[in-house]
Amino acid sequence: MLGPAILAASRSDKMRRIVSAAPVTKPVVNRFIPGETVDQVIPIVRDLTRKGLEVTLDVVGEDITTVEQSHAARDAYLELIERLAALGLGDKAEMSVKLSMFGQALEGGHELALANVRPVVEAAAAIGTTVTLDAEDHTTLDSMFAIHEELRRDFPQTGCVIQAYLFRTEADARRLAAAGSRVRIVKGAYKEPAEVAYQDKAEIDKAYVRIMRILMEGEGYPMIGSHDPRLIAIAQELARAAGRKLDEYEFQMLYGIRGEEHLRLAAEGHRMRVYTAYGTDWYGYFMRRLAEKPANLLFFLRSMITKN
Ligand SMILES: Cc1cc2nc3c(=O)[nH]c(=O)nc-3n(C[C@H](O)[C@H](O)[C@H](O)COP(=O)(O)OP(=O)(O)OC[C@H]3O[C@@H](n4cnc5c(N)ncnc54)[C@H](O)[C@@H]3O)c2cc1C
Repeated sequence: MLGPAILAASRSDKMRRIVSAAPVTKPVVNRFIPGETVDQVIPIVRDLTRKGLEVTLDVVGEDITTVEQSHAARDAYLELIERLAALGLGDKAEMSVKLSMFGQALEGGHELALANVRPVVEAAAAIGTTVTLDAEDHTTLDSMFAIHEELRRDFPQTGCVIQAYLFRTEADARRLAAAGSRVRIVKGAYKEPAEVAYQDKAEIDKAYVRIMRILMEGEGYPMIGSHDPRLIAIAQELARAAGRKLDEYEFQMLYGIRGEEHLRLAAEGHRMRVYTAYGTDWYGYFMRRLAEKPANLLFFLRSMITKN
C-alpha cells in the first residue's frame, strides 16, 4: 500500500527538502503543475479555453506558518484575477482556494482565513467569475463549511468541495444540494483515519455514487471531480434521469491527467473544467498526485535513478 506512505511523506519537512531540491524532480512536477508564475500559467489558460475547455486555477502553497504568508496568498490570487480580467473569460476561468493557505491553521485562523478570502471572492465576482473552496483534511471542514456559508450570503455562487470517503459527506451533500449552490464532489485525497472515512476503494466509489445522486436530484449545480471512467458514465446516467441539461452540471479533472478525456467530454457538449495548479510551493499537491497512482511514483523514481 504505497498511497498512505506517500501521503505520510507529504507531511514530512525532510522529504519536502529532498524532493524539492532534486533537479530531476522538475519534469515530473511539470506534468501536474505547469508553471510557477502567473506569467507562465496565463498562456496555458488561453490554450485550454481555446480548445473549448474551462479552468479552475489553484495557486499552490498550503503549508504556511505566518500571517504575512496568508496575506501573500490573498495577494497572489488578487494578482491572478487582475490578469484574468484582461482575458475576458468570465466564469470559464474560476479559482480554487485552500483555506489553509489563507491562514486557517494559524491562531485565530478561522477569522483570518475568512478575512483573506473575502476580497478574493469579491474581486472574482467583479469579473463575472467564482471561487470554490477546496476540501482539505477532515479537521478543517467545519470551519470551511462555515466560511462557505458566510461567503454565500453576499456571493451565493461561491462553491465548495465534498469528499466521498468521509462518513459525514452524505449529510453535507443533502444540506448543500439547494438552489444556487455549486458543489464539487471528489473521492478525497488526504490520509484519513478509519473512524471518519471509508478505507476501501469499492466503498468510496459506492458512496460517491450515492452522493452524486443526491446532488443530481437536488437543486444545486453539481461539479463532478473525477477521472474514473465508471463514475463519469454513471454521472451522465444520473444527470439524464434527473432531467438535467448538459449545462446544468459539469465535469472537472486535474491538469496532466487523462487529457484526451477532457477533450472528448467537451466535444460531446459537456462543460469540462481543468483544475490547473501553479506556483513554487508545489510539494503537497505533487505528493497527493503521486499517492493517487503509485505508477507515478515509479516513473518519478526511475527518472531519478537514470539521471543520476
Ligand atoms: C477537479 C478536481 C478537484 C479536486 N479537489 C479536491 C479537493 O478539494 N479535496 C480533495 O481531498 N481532493 C480533491 N481532488 C482529488 C480527488 O479527491 C482524488 O484524489 C483524485 O481525483 C483521484 O480520484 P479519481 O476520482 O480520479 O479516481 P481514481 O480511482 O483515483 O482514478 C481513476 C483513474 O484516473 C487516473 N488517475 C487518477 N489520479 C491520477 C494521478 N494522480 N495520476 C495519473 N492518473 C490518475 C487513473 O487512470 C485512474 O485509474 C480533486 C480532484 C479533481 C479531479
